[in-house]
Amino acid sequence: MKKIFNYINGKLVEPISGKYLDNFDPSTGKAYSHCPDSDERDVELATQAALQAFGAWSVLAPEKRSRIMLRIAELIEKNIDELAEAESIDQGKPKWLAKNGEIPRAISNIRFFGTAIEHFASEAHPMPGHAINYTLRTPIGVVGCISPWNLPLYLFTWKIAPALASGNCVVAKPSEITPMTAYLLAQICIQAGLPHGVLNIVHGLGEKVGSAITLHSQIKAISFTGGTKTGAEIARLAAPMFKKLSLELGGKNPNIIFADCNFDKMLEETLRSSFLNQGEICLCGSRIFIERSIYNKFKNAFIEKVKARVIGDPLFDTTLVGAIASKMHFEKVMSYIELAKQEGGTVLCGGNQVNPEGRCSAGWFIAPTVIEGLSFDCRTNQEEIFGPVVTIAPFDTEEEVLMFANSTEFGLAATIWTENLTLAHRMAAEIKSGIVWINCWLLRDLRTPFGGVKNSGVGREGGWEAMRFFTEPKNVCIKL
Ligand code: NAD
Repeated sequence: MKKIFNYINGKLVEPISGKYLDNFDPSTGKAYSHCPDSDERDVELATQAALQAFGAWSVLAPEKRSRIMLRIAELIEKNIDELAEAESIDQGKPKWLAKNGEIPRAISNIRFFGTAIEHFASEAHPMPGHAINYTLRTPIGVVGCISPWNLPLYLFTWKIAPALASGNCVVAKPSEITPMTAYLLAQICIQAGLPHGVLNIVHGLGEKVGSAITLHSQIKAISFTGGTKTGAEIARLAAPMFKKLSLELGGKNPNIIFADCNFDKMLEETLRSSFLNQGEICLCGSRIFIERSIYNKFKNAFIEKVKARVIGDPLFDTTLVGAIASKMHFEKVMSYIELAKQEGGTVLCGGNQVNPEGRCSAGWFIAPTVIEGLSFDCRTNQEEIFGPVVTIAPFDTEEEVLMFANSTEFGLAATIWTENLTLAHRMAAEIKSGIVWINCWLLRDLRTPFGGVKNSGVGREGGWEAMRFFTEPKNVCIKL
């Protein structure tokens, strides 16, 4: 079985414990590789390597850091087929999606921040006749980046790229459920000539490796993406140490459809926003609210298209819905479908496990599921499911749907469908979320602030927000 190694001080190394975790292919339900079961000793080695590398990396001219990062991006591009297949096998997503969406996005992340550093400038605040202030922005030191399993390389690079570009050294932990592409990235970093210790990747469990990173006194900032509960635990541990924190957490995003929308465009995008990546994207719209006058039209058209979605082997080009990333998550999603029934919901389609013929017959597949008849405040409509499950419900007025939309503890993203520009602006201003899409979904410009409000997170990623997070501002005031 293929073995994954940690990447510490420029080398691929075994975990100190010598122990490994089984890493599963969710499309077959079988273990196919071994992931290091690291602990705080590996985090300590990684942190020491990062501290040692920091001196030289932090003062390296931005254009030189940029050049190394662009080399990494180029090598990812050269190996896109291998990485896309690895991501698909590790996570369960269709390979075509990894190849056309996620691995290219990982490349963009590294290119975006690798070039941003050449344009990152600071501010000056003159006090005419008295003084001039200028702000120095220096890298923080050693920072921790902890990422989830749903978009493995995409979200891993979204964190480490701005951290490295702005001159920090990194101790990073990918999810233990999807460690493979981070391991392949480590090999690429070696090939690209990234100086030893600048990036260190420690694989293993959250409770061991993640908390050791959070608690390490020399790791001065944590950029975390994952569940709200884990985010709360990280905040609890890190707050007394006054670490800088960026927390990108869960969501329960509303998708609001007004009767005057462009119906066909809306329908296609709503299929995507409901079920892309098996619904395992924090930005997926899981609560669909439809203006009552088009409710039945929407319901019939939507169900017909959902039923036609091809579920099966993620390696096939025709597959639209792949496997659920882990057995534990599969069971969680299935339990929410049961809960929805107990709460009085009607399953209009899906709701069942699927066992495709052939090599994937024991994989963890769930048919895309649409449920109606639930109140806005039941658990199914309040808690994050994070799978191929959406609820649909009619609404009568703008005020009512705003109340539905804003009723959860989350506030990550919202989608609004209407041709009425005034209504769209009004809704966008009133929705409590960090991101609003109008007549589109998942259209991303890497310069825009990314993140949520309420229990969906603290802080913003993307563009200058990320570069500012990974630097420490210092004001210098000179009396004239
Ligand atoms: P998770 O919180 O279980 O794990 C995320 C990462 O944290 C993993 O690497 C895990 O090993 C680590 N971890 C677990 N316990 C830890 C601890 N005590 N201390 C430190 N690290 C720990 O989340 P997940 O199940 O991997 O991912 C799904 C969640 O991520 C969903 O809630 C989803 O909405 C969220 N998510 C949010 C965004 C966003 O941008 N807001 C993006 C993607 C996913």
